[in-house]
Amino acid sequence: MKPALKKSFAQREAIVMDFELSMEQEILRKTVRTFVEKEIAPVARELDEAEEFSPETMSAMGELGLFGMVVSEEYGGKGMDYISYIIAVEEIARVDGSHAATMGAGNSLGIGPIYYYGSENQKRKYLPDLCAGKALWSFGLTEPNAGSDAGGAQTTAVLDGNEWVINGSKIFITNASTAISRGVTVMAKTGNRVNGRKELSCILVENGTRGFEAKPMYGKMMWRASNTSELYFEDCRVPKDNLLGGRGKGFHQMLETLDAGRLSVGAGGVGGAQGAYELALKYAKERVQFGRPISTFQVNAFKLADMAMEIEAARLLVYQACWLKDQHKSFSKAAAMAKLYASEVMGRVVNEAVQIHGGYGLMKEYSIERFYRDQKLLTIGEGTSEIQRLVIARLIGAI
Ligand SMILES: Cc1cc2nc3c(=O)[nH]c(=O)nc-3n(C[C@H](O)[C@H](O)[C@H](O)COP(=O)(O)OP(=O)(O)OC[C@H]3O[C@@H](n4cnc5c(N)ncnc54)[C@H](O)[C@@H]3O)c2cc1C
Repeated sequence: MKPALKKSFAQREAIVMDFELSMEQEILRKTVRTFVEKEIAPVARELDEAEEFSPETMSAMGELGLFGMVVSEEYGGKGMDYISYIIAVEEIARVDGSHAATMGAGNSLGIGPIYYYGSENQKRKYLPDLCAGKALWSFGLTEPNAGSDAGGAQTTAVLDGNEWVINGSKIFITNASTAISRGVTVMAKTGNRVNGRKELSCILVENGTRGFEAKPMYGKMMWRASNTSELYFEDCRVPKDNLLGGRGKGFHQMLETLDAGRLSVGAGGVGGAQGAYELALKYAKERVQFGRPISTFQVNAFKLADMAMEIEAARLLVYQACWLKDQHKSFSKAAAMAKLYASEVMGRVVNEAVQIHGGYGLMKEYSIERFYRDQKLLTIGEGTSEIQRLVIARLIGAI
């Protein structure tokens, strides 16, 4: 063999693909699974029914180290890789979507923007408590008249001396009005660019600031034990230094934050689908009709086989997108694909899982009913399925 050819084989060996999780990641999965089964599973249905955010389970998640997982240790984080964080979201979603939402939004939408774009002062001021799970931060992007078209935000922030004066409102904001909600990153219009386009910036506003009110929203179909809020800003004044990362950077920060957020929504889809599939498999093996477990009817066995296959495919897409992020490679397209596919896989899985449960699947006593409701958010939040298809279509050059 020619030496040059030999070298290229050796090089190829060095970059061989590896689908195995590390020992640390496997231990993390086991630890989170044990925690969720013990602390969250027993209360999930009750909290869902009462539409109640639980400070107790929140605090337990914080103590376990589920906040600030990818933040460096100097700010109180755990310094882990993104795949590890996503495994934790997946494990929580396997049992309960609401808790996965609190934890995923707390990390990706709350902690993320401060960690990636905050000044040293802002990071030192807020991150330690957020990473300990003692406080929650939220991300206020969506407005009553600006949802998918987030750039159409009408909330304004005007500089008056050394203060920003904020006016406007936000809707559907996760984690913004709990007893431990510390503040929100608000995207607001701060002026016009020379090309006539809006100048959008992100500004940090602490809960309790005069002129800022966060009101919980009730009556949700899904994620009922997670906190969702409407935010009102009326001549709300905050220091000039509360600007995040630079004037006019808001739109870019929002897009990057949503890219990362989509990975946790994707993980929520994989975990939720896994939980629903496990419930359906168990039920199908136990339920006897016509003298046989219903899992042995080919139609049900094939449904379960399809579920197992689609969940595995969704998991690979989500992990691959996380791997790209961990490698500091571009991951926008992979994140949109992972979020879109995993959320739609969960939709198909919960639908068939309820079908396998027959009439019992429609009763609150059976957890599958909660999975069926919780799934629907995943094709809407952090960019609807239609918007993901738009993002992918643009990134592959179709539009
Ligand atoms: C429980 C919950 C938690 C949330 N948490 C947060 C949060 O923490 N922070 C935050 O900022 N937001 C949050 N959101 C808001 C969420 O991101 C938006 O609901 C979502 O982006 C869709 O916006 P919209 O509801 O205004 O729908 P719209 O934008 O009005 O869309 C309605 C329909 O039109 C379709 N559509 C719109 N534009 C297009 C287009 N160009 N092409 C094709 N179809 C289109 C959509 O796909 C959808 O089917 C949350 C929402 C919920 C329900």
